[in-house]
Amino acid sequence: MTQPSDSSQRSDFGFRDVSPQEKTRLVGEVFTEVAERYDIMNDLMSLGIHRLWKRLFVKGCGLVPGQHMLDLAGGTGDIAALAVAEGAEVTVADINLAMLSVGRARLEQRGLVRNLNWVQANAEALPFADQHFDHVTIAFGLRNVTHRDQALQEMVRVLRPGGQLHIMEFSQVQTPAFKALYDRWSFDVMPWLGAKVAGSADSYQYLAESIRRFPDQPSLADMMRQAGLVDVDWRNLSDGICAIHRGRRP
Ligand code: SAM
Repeated sequence: MTQPSDSSQRSDFGFRDVSPQEKTRLVGEVFTEVAERYDIMNDLMSLGIHRLWKRLFVKGCGLVPGQHMLDLAGGTGDIAALAVAEGAEVTVADINLAMLSVGRARLEQRGLVRNLNWVQANAEALPFADQHFDHVTIAFGLRNVTHRDQALQEMVRVLRPGGQLHIMEFSQVQTPAFKALYDRWSFDVMPWLGAKVAGSADSYQYLAESIRRFPDQPSLADMMRQAGLVDVDWRNLSDGICAIHRGRRP
């Protein structure tokens, strides 16, 4: 597969523009640094609401027992655990070994071993055959990927015709009055919590900034169509703090 030539391009790392190689390195550092405290931070920052979003996300996949699902940027395995409970065979792929190790140990502790594969892989160059999966999911992952269009093409490549891509990502809040409150939470509370609980304010400052730089709901839908998906739609959760996008490979 041809990799894009990076030398003249810039990538967003939060509010900073960096080289693509630098973005990949910095994102790697963020998740290696927070891996051990990642789950507790999610509970604190979202007041537990991420668990509800994730349940809605997996329910919305409409999994049929025995179907193959790729959970990309699967991190500590929240989506995979829910999908296995629905009867799917799940491959969890993530670029970061620290996140995968925490996830695998955590799910093993819960007795979740069967129907689960753990693979270290970059979303931009997936080590899977064409048309292999019935569903591909990526939750809070695409924002962190350097070459998002290339990653979307890879997700479509590994989907069987008729298979579905499901993306859950932070998105743009719809109500202006709520946005002001959400901004205070994001820029004041989240980095403070990051410092206290995960020992890294910067990682959670990056989180808040990266959400603001990520394409809004219609723009992400356009990117999905560009990648070859049809029947693309989305659903806002919590006023658009989070959105679930869905598309089908024709
Ligand atoms: N999906 C999990 C969840 O919902 O809790 C983890 C999301 S975490 C915010 C983002 C994950 O994306 C990290 O585990 C990170 O290592 C992974 N990631 C970032 N860039 C990636 C890439 N190019 N390919 C695969 N995974 C990537």
